[in-house]
Amino acid sequence: MKKRLEMLEQLQEIDQTIDVLKAGQSALQAELLGISQGVDVAREEIVLLEAGLAKQEAEKGELEVTHAAELENITRSETNMKEIKTNKEFQAVGREITAAKKQVTEIEDLLLQKISQIEELAGELAAKRSLCGELAENSAQRIAEKQSEIDKIQSDIDADVVRREKVVNEIPASLVKRFTILREQRHGRALAIARDGNCLGCNMHLPPQLYNNLYKNEELLTCPHCQRILILRLQQ
Ligand SMILES: [Zn+2]
Repeated sequence: MKKRLEMLEQLQEIDQTIDVLKAGQSALQAELLGISQGVDVAREEIVLLEAGLAKQEAEKGELEVTHAAELENITRSETNMKEIKTNKEFQAVGREITAAKKQVTEIEDLLLQKISQIEELAGELAAKRSLCGELAENSAQRIAEKQSEIDKIQSDIDADVVRREKVVNEIPASLVKRFTILREQRHGRALAIARDGNCLGCNMHLPPQLYNNLYKNEELLTCPHCQRILILRLQQ
């Protein structure tokens, strides 16, 4: 019975080690995800800036077309003027030219605004690209480091799983099953230390007869309050 309890204790120790390793591994995986998401966010920002820049370029193109058309109108009107006979017609075409020139000035102002917006965006984009490049490089290194930590933990887990199998083979299957269910129900601890008449798993007082029976080491005894398998331990 003593040996059986010792094997169960080993099993609990291994399972807890595996739990801790797995928790560490999950934390690293979350960090890894965070790092790659950081790069993704930076890349998305670049895509948005590129789209914004393309839109500004297209608008600039449209303004240039309008500008050229207006200039052409002015030239045409000026040529026509030479052939005008009446004063009235002359004045009408003159007004057209004045209006067109005003239009041209407005378009040129808009074009200048557009050019400076484009320069600003292009500068922002270049800075963002270079930052993103650095971030990606830096992240690749950090991801590789995290991945190797994760792999190292995995090999520790694998070793513990092998160790666990050996221990499990020494314990009757029905007891392993009982242990496993208890462990799931009792926050990862199927065993509890009994000391000074108490169960240290739930801190409840154990019936004196049960506590006395623990000394006999004849059978596996469980705490009537938390159902954990009891291990008598007289001192820490
Ligand atoms: Zn208990």
